[in-house]
Amino acid sequence: MSDSKIEWTEVTWNPTTGCSKISAGCTNCYAELFAKRLQAIGAEKYKNGFKLTLHPDVLIEPKKYKTPRIIFVSSMSDVFHKDIPLSFLKKIFEVMNETPRHIYQVLTKRAERMEKLAGELRWTENIWLGVTVENEKARYRIEHLRRVPAKIKFLSMEPLLEAVPDINLEGIDWVIVGGESGPKARPIKEEWILEIKNACEKYNAAFCFKQWGGFNKKANGRLLQGKIYDAIPNPYTNQHSLF
Ligand code: SF4
Repeated sequence: MSDSKIEWTEVTWNPTTGCSKISAGCTNCYAELFAKRLQAIGAEKYKNGFKLTLHPDVLIEPKKYKTPRIIFVSSMSDVFHKDIPLSFLKKIFEVMNETPRHIYQVLTKRAERMEKLAGELRWTENIWLGVTVENEKARYRIEHLRRVPAKIKFLSMEPLLEAVPDINLEGIDWVIVGGESGPKARPIKEEWILEIKNACEKYNAAFCFKQWGGFNKKANGRLLQGKIYDAIPNPYTNQHSLF
């Protein structure tokens, strides 16, 4: 596992790497970029570049960490990709089930397969499940998410590509919003973000604003109307906090 620079997690664990593009949010996929860079410098784990690859040898990794961590699962892939067999998915879930000291964040754009396979998997309370909703077209994923028995459910609205008005956050615990970064970043508007923030207040969901993004994401920062929004659900109290 490796430390993550992502604001809303601590470490990443990649028992699968590689993926294929499925919707507008994938256009400038950072995982593809990193995988190809790592392949170019000869990293063994990325010898297949961005082709979907299973890594049974790293399944054990979370068990080695005795102190609790917040772990983003398969940040370089999509756990519900069609080429990941159910048998391997079950192995990933078994590790999560057997290490309740950790919190696992599982994020997918394959909401249909997620729901279809949900009954085959054990949803212990330490598994947080999220879907990406980058635009209006992806809104349907929230319905699939609501029907899966994960204790904490979240949305990643990054890169947010357009307004998603009147969003229904019933049953959603946490929303992360962010703009796209990099040389080909598509723009984000403050009014889209504020509308989602208001919805979070209405439905009592934790709101995290990750970044404005853009060509120079560091310079653009993450202040929204002069404030940092960093809320994250606290699974022990059901309150929002930074823990
Ligand atoms: S689903 Fe995620 S990892 Fe896969 S191509 Fe899209 S952005 Fe990249």
